[in-house]
Amino acid sequence: MAGGSINEMRRRNRKIVLQEIVFNAPASRSQISKNTGLTGAAVSRITRELIDVGLISEGKTVEVKGQVGRRNVRLELADNGAYVLGIALTANSQSISIGNSKGEIVAQRRMEGLVLENPAVVVEQISRAANKMIQSANIELGRVVGCGIAVGGVVDPDSGVLIRSDPLEWYDLPLASMFHDSLGLPVRLEGRAVALLMTEHKRNSAKAKENVVLISNGLWVGGAIMLDGNIVKGQSNMIGQIGHFAVNGNQKQCVCGRKGCLDATASGLAILDQLQHIELPASMKPGDRLRALSENSNLSNPEINQAFMQAGRNMGYAVDALLSMLDPEQILLTGATHRQEKYIEGIRETLTTLRPGQSDWPVKVSRVTSDQSAIWLGLNAFVFSTSLNIDQLKAA
Ligand SMILES: [Zn+2]
Repeated sequence: MAGGSINEMRRRNRKIVLQEIVFNAPASRSQISKNTGLTGAAVSRITRELIDVGLISEGKTVEVKGQVGRRNVRLELADNGAYVLGIALTANSQSISIGNSKGEIVAQRRMEGLVLENPAVVVEQISRAANKMIQSANIELGRVVGCGIAVGGVVDPDSGVLIRSDPLEWYDLPLASMFHDSLGLPVRLEGRAVALLMTEHKRNSAKAKENVVLISNGLWVGGAIMLDGNIVKGQSNMIGQIGHFAVNGNQKQCVCGRKGCLDATASGLAILDQLQHIELPASMKPGDRLRALSENSNLSNPEINQAFMQAGRNMGYAVDALLSMLDPEQILLTGATHRQEKYIEGIRETLTTLRPGQSDWPVKVSRVTSDQSAIWLGLNAFVFSTSLNIDQLKAA
């Protein structure tokens, strides 16, 4: 066997063991061996190595039934073994987080006043702020192993290129390599919807559903689709981007030139458009305006409630189509607009109309945030993966 492939095998086995510790916790060496098919000796060697570099630690000892005297030590992730940066980037909000290997966010900062017209400057400013955050959090640089970036747009994850983001007005931008150069860290770039869906999947890994549709709706509508456990991308990474799914019969014109698209009839922007005349401070950005309206509507302004509800009814047609077409175990709704109760009521009303006699749909509002999704993107790419740089941690 060539040296390269031994190395590859080590990386693969290390990844398998780590994933077992993370997603099937608490795990002992013998359980890991049983679940993965790796020999006891191999599991011992790998876990020794992971303990030595500070990535995992030994927890409580548990007695195993029928195995008197057999020591079964639970293995768990160490609190400060490895960290990743998470950058969440949309037109509406830009933020940086530092997460530990458990996915816990240990530091967070929302960037204000970035000039989005100039992506190169944005990358530089975010990178500078991120490095400052690592310093003030007293984290050794060598423990920061990578960066996950969740961006609101269509991404080619293999090349790390942001193909298009209409909200940001960024097109064909090699965002991963720009951040890599500027941060000096390996970078994984994904569309925000895909990152959110992967995070929901990973965090619930032991009982994870394999067929899931995610619809995101902040100011714009987007989405991602997982079938048989794999995120599907399609010929141009566009599968799941349902913003231009047309609601049959609706005449409202979309920016794309068609009529009735979700972006024109069911998005946060569509709601803002309906409620233009409602007075709010003129300086408010659309995202803040949407948030303010969501809050007001809870204070029972019937007009605002009505706008959210009608937009939700329109979205209900897309939900119905996706249920019919893809037979998902779950449809996850994310984003500020989806967190509005009246909006969900609107979706349910349409489903009740289209599916009489049925009252229980696998539709759920997800609470995963963009920041969490960026962190998990980084963890999956650079910690629980064959890319884990064990030598870097050894040296830290
Ligand atoms: Zn459209």
